[in-house]
This record gives sequence, structure tokens and C-alpha cells, in this order.
Amino acid sequence: MQGRIEVITGPMFSGKSTELIKRVEKYKAEGYKVQAYKPLMDNRYAVNSIVSHNNEKTRALPVSSVDEILATLALDTEVVALDEVQFFDERVLVLANQLASSNKILIAAGLNLDFKGDPFCFLNSKRTMYELISQAGKVDVLSAVCDYVENDVKCGKHATKTQRMVNGEPAPYDSQLVLVGASEAYCARCSKHHFVPGKHEKA
Ligand code: ADP
Ligand code: MG
Repeated sequence: MQGRIEVITGPMFSGKSTELIKRVEKYKAEGYKVQAYKPLMDNRYAVNSIVSHNNEKTRALPVSSVDEILATLALDTEVVALDEVQFFDERVLVLANQLASSNKILIAAGLNLDFKGDPFCFLNSKRTMYELISQAGKVDVLSAVCDYVENDVKCGKHATKTQRMVNGEPAPYDSQLVLVGASEAYCARCSKHHFVPGKHEKA
């Protein structure tokens, strides 16, 4: 089998985990040996599974580092799936290339942008998801649906951004970068309805 990196990216609620689960289940049905992982910190819906916001799931090993992936990867595994790949450190870039050059398929799903609309940096690093995207042979950039409501009418346009909310208000540019949450803290927005108070002054 020819190795490759596949990236599934886009904002929250765009269907990244749904698509990852679909591909994992398809490879399994075709008889490939698949191992799926997710970062331990993503404890939103379940610990031992990748779960979509629509409650589709596939079993996955929760790990706290790239080393733990390397330590648990079986030699005969042909397909490796990683959800929330942006939460790993930059060594995931090396791992991705190692997997592809040893004729394995890596399917990595993760956010391209943070809540501020900036490229998502790997853990404690300035290197971003766009580096992984640049190395991928297949990239799918998904969009969600903008849920901004004005005069009782929902925008409904393609959402490319993730809006973080704190007590019903847009979170400011200076708030902490990683805050694990689902619809109580985040929503999907088009660029026009993506608000980051304080961003302009910092740019
Ligand atoms: P991701 O992994 O990209 O966050 P999921 O695959 O977990 O996305 O979930 C996608 C699902 O989220 C959609 O099928 C839909 O049911 C739900 N959803 C909730 N809010 C939205 C939204 N604003 N736009 C699109 N889908 C949404
Ligand atoms: Mg997801």
C-alpha cells in the first residue's frame, strides 16, 4: 500500500469527526488493520471513542502524547486515525511523515483555525496545522452552517470559523487558547459573523 497523509479540517461542527469515523469504519470493513487515537484532553463525549456531535462513534485509544502513539502502534497497522490532531505537540508532524513513508495511511482530523481565526498552533509550538495540511496528499476543508441570528433570522451561510462564547458574549482575543467544550462554549460562524473583541488592535 502507498502511504499518504489525509487531512480533514474546518471549524467546529463542520463534520470532521463524522468524516473520520466514516473513513475508519470503511477501512475496517475492507479488512485493513486500523488504529484510532484521540488526545486524552478531549473528554467531551466519551473516553474510549471518537464521537461526533451527532453521536456517531468509533473506538479510539485516548493518549496524552505522540510518544504514547508510537509506543502503542502495532507494526502491522496499515491505517492510523487521529482526531483533534491540533491538540498534539509539533512532533505529530514527524510522526505523520514517518507513517506515510512507511506505507501507512494517516487520516488526521482537526481544526485549521483557533477561536481567534488564526492558524491553530500545535501544543506549545508556533508551528501550525497548515504545515500538516501542506504535507498532505488529500485535504478536505469542511464548512459548517453559520448560526448567527439577526431579527429572528438565522444567517445559514457557510461557516468557516469557530466562535467562542463566554456567558453569551464573544470571547476576547486575549482569552486562553485551549478550552475544551462543545455547543455551550462554541458555535460555527461565517467570517461576517465571527467576532473577536480586541483582535483588530493586536493585528
Ligand atoms: P466536528 O468534528 O467538525 O466538530 P462533528 O462531525 O462532530 O463535527 O459534528 C457535525 C455535526 O454537528 C453535524 O452533522 C450537525 O448535526 C451538528 N451541528 C451542530 N451545529 C452545527 C452547525 N452550526 N453547522 C453544522 N452542523 C452543526
Ligand atoms: Mg470533532
